[in-house]
Amino acid sequence: MSSPDVVIVGAGVEGTSIAYALASRGTADVTVLDRDAIGSGGTGRSAGIVRCHYGVPEVAALARESLEVFQHAEEILGASVDFEQVGYLVGIGEDNLAPFRASVAAQQTLGIDTGEIGHAEAAALWPVAHLDDFASFAYEPRGGYADGYATAHAFAGAARRLGASITQGTAVASVEVSGGRVTGVTLADGTTLATPTVVVAASAWSVPLLAPLGIDLPITPYLVQEVLIDPGQDLGARPVFSDMVSKQYVHQRGHELLFGDSGGFERPIPDPDRFPSHAEDAAIERCAEKAMHRFPGIEDPSVKTTSTGMIDVTPDWNPIISATPINGLYVAAGFSGHGFKIAPAVGRLMADLILDGTSSVPDVPAETFRFSRYEEGSPLLSKYPYVGASKIR
Ligand SMILES: Cc1cc2nc3c(=O)[nH]c(=O)nc-3n(C[C@H](O)[C@H](O)[C@H](O)COP(=O)(O)OP(=O)(O)OC[C@H]3O[C@@H](n4cnc5c(N)ncnc54)[C@H](O)[C@@H]3O)c2cc1C
Repeated sequence: MSSPDVVIVGAGVEGTSIAYALASRGTADVTVLDRDAIGSGGTGRSAGIVRCHYGVPEVAALARESLEVFQHAEEILGASVDFEQVGYLVGIGEDNLAPFRASVAAQQTLGIDTGEIGHAEAAALWPVAHLDDFASFAYEPRGGYADGYATAHAFAGAARRLGASITQGTAVASVEVSGGRVTGVTLADGTTLATPTVVVAASAWSVPLLAPLGIDLPITPYLVQEVLIDPGQDLGARPVFSDMVSKQYVHQRGHELLFGDSGGFERPIPDPDRFPSHAEDAAIERCAEKAMHRFPGIEDPSVKTTSTGMIDVTPDWNPIISATPINGLYVAAGFSGHGFKIAPAVGRLMADLILDGTSSVPDVPAETFRFSRYEEGSPLLSKYPYVGASKIR
């Protein structure tokens, strides 16, 4: 390997999207290094839900921009990301009606195709659901879900065609700095790759890479657990459903339904490389209870399998997409379990930060996701928080 203009550590959906964005802006001398394989981290385990319903306007704007890429992936990236545009339905209880209406109005101001709908319309979208305990719903017809692994590969392929190189099975051991600026990276085999610009996009594994440089990323690995249920009947194509009353989300995977818990049961784990590969009994029971309450019309459901994953959580549950105090060193990490749907726009924002020092993403100022917001005491929080819901709403 020679001396690339930019080295990106991590070939997840963020690292590959950044590589594509840089290459498509003419910075083709980009090398992405992954200790394992493209999409082998959280990306390959992602539920892949795509929606714009966020109370942080800048996150909603990133999701809105990204939607264009999910929807037109074959045209833009030359490959499918398996996007199923089945729509996105969110239901909320009486206690959250006011923030919900304010949030939906703010999303509409951003140009997001969303709107409040009533019980009858929601029932037509999800006929097997019990909906009486919801106060209202919003529906995004352009939402849906895509595949994390396919999306990372689509970005990687497009970046390669533009001249970038993606090297798998190559761990970065350290980032080299001299005189306050980046000079390269040292690989696990001891070789050094000189470069003036490094982007660390290595999820929770970014923390040990930056700590020796005096950069303490406030990122904690958390375990998430999901349950795949066979409904035992053909439900037809149904929208992704965020149930903000029972605190769960559900989307179809083929004929099956993938359930996740949004009730705050994610928990910190000491090591991002060590977590159970299947959901714990308590998580399965909780899921079954919630699913049975919400979907009484599914007559003979059975648990098909379960899955787990690691998410990289920041104190405000929003990502760090930022320059650092070291010249030439950038971070894109801490996506806190919702980085998939914004990844295309994250790539563009990071390319802007590196090449222009500013943002070209409409409605997203460059400083929004700055690393320094934590020490400044200015966390990036929802303007319309929901009672009892996690901070990512
Ligand atoms: C179960 C689950 C469900 C999710 N559901 C959704 C969803 O529905 N919608 C949504 O928007 N988001 C969702 N997310 C979150 C989303 O998937 C992540 O935010 C996103 O995939 C993170 O991408 P990443 O590139 O930052 O990290 P990763 O995909 O983890 O990539 C980091 C890469 O860095 C590499 N790496 C680590 N250390 C080194 C090193 N020293 N040298 C070289 N390479 C290194 C790893 O091998 C890895 O490939 C979910 C996540 C999980 C786990």
